Amino acid sequence: MLKDSFSRVIDYLRLSITDRCNLRCVYCMPAEGIVPFSHSDILSYEEIIRIVEIAASLGVRKVRLTGGEPLTRRDVTFLVSELKKIKGIEDLSMTTNGMLLEEYAERLSRAGLDRVNISIDTFKPERFRQITRTGDLNLVLRGLRAAEDAGLKPVKINMVPVRGINDDEIIDFARLTMTSGCHVRFIECMPSGALDFWDQGMYISTDELKTLIETLGPLTPVRLRKHGPSKYYRIKGAEGVIGFISALTHHFCEDCNRLRLTADGKLRPCLFSETEIDLRAAIRNDAPDSEIERLLRLSIQVKPKGHTIGQAGIAMAHSASELMPCASGKKRPMSQIGG
Ligand code: SAM
Repeated sequence: MLKDSFSRVIDYLRLSITDRCNLRCVYCMPAEGIVPFSHSDILSYEEIIRIVEIAASLGVRKVRLTGGEPLTRRDVTFLVSELKKIKGIEDLSMTTNGMLLEEYAERLSRAGLDRVNISIDTFKPERFRQITRTGDLNLVLRGLRAAEDAGLKPVKINMVPVRGINDDEIIDFARLTMTSGCHVRFIECMPSGALDFWDQGMYISTDELKTLIETLGPLTPVRLRKHGPSKYYRIKGAEGVIGFISALTHHFCEDCNRLRLTADGKLRPCLFSETEIDLRAAIRNDAPDSEIERLLRLSIQVKPKGHTIGQAGIAMAHSASELMPCASGKKRPMSQIGG
């Protein structure tokens, strides 16, 4: 079992397999896009598989593929099938924007993917295009159905509520859990990604979301799994559940069980910290497994207790850089960390 300095069990690895994305969501990426990593910057599938094998031998049990958009990377089903074979990996999932899911769902399922999270911030096609700058909601909804048909269940929908953009749909998203088995997770918009997007006015806290959703009925806490950032609730009689990922207002740091590996091979112990450990350099300098193992353990030992952004700070901040002074210059965009 891998434990960090604060006795948290670390058993979850989020793998960003590309920084490229076929969407340009307003809160995630600057309008002008980003300078993508070059092909040689990105870990090869063989390198990723080796890292996951070593991580699994240390105690990692859950792996999630993310990005950028993971389905834009060529032969992603090959990677899924190879990761699925690794001893110790019990749960293999993917976070996707769903644009290519109709084409891939069946193949992903056959390759061994267990579940998908699909990011959908609105059910209005025109608004969807505005938020994603390039997306097609119909394609995503067809992808969602294909995922369900392929057994990639439960499908979890990730929604980032933003005041003045999609806050009038929060109730509709919550109601979806009453009419389908989908899990709907509301993610507090974070001051990362498109840094000039975040400000106090557009930000909606989990407490505000809950109060709004409780107009549909009382929310009863549901314990779905031992660790993880989502706190889950059910509206009485609903088949699906509602999750809240409150990175800012209710730190989930004490339950954090994860490490992130960026597409260019940097281990990040915390989304909000700039600490990175360079696994790619080690691998490309022919490091033996014992050295990769040491670096994995090191990243767990330096995992911070938590981030320090508090409620009072959020209430006063006008911009992302006020909240996170390091959030300028060298800070990576979300798509290059892996959301
Ligand atoms: N392309 C995939 C997708 O769209 O799901 C995976 C990568 S995306 C960066 C992963 C998740 O991060 C999405 O659910 C997205 O909404 C979320 N995300 C991106 N920027 C965010 C921000 N600033 N605050 C909160 N969530 C964000």
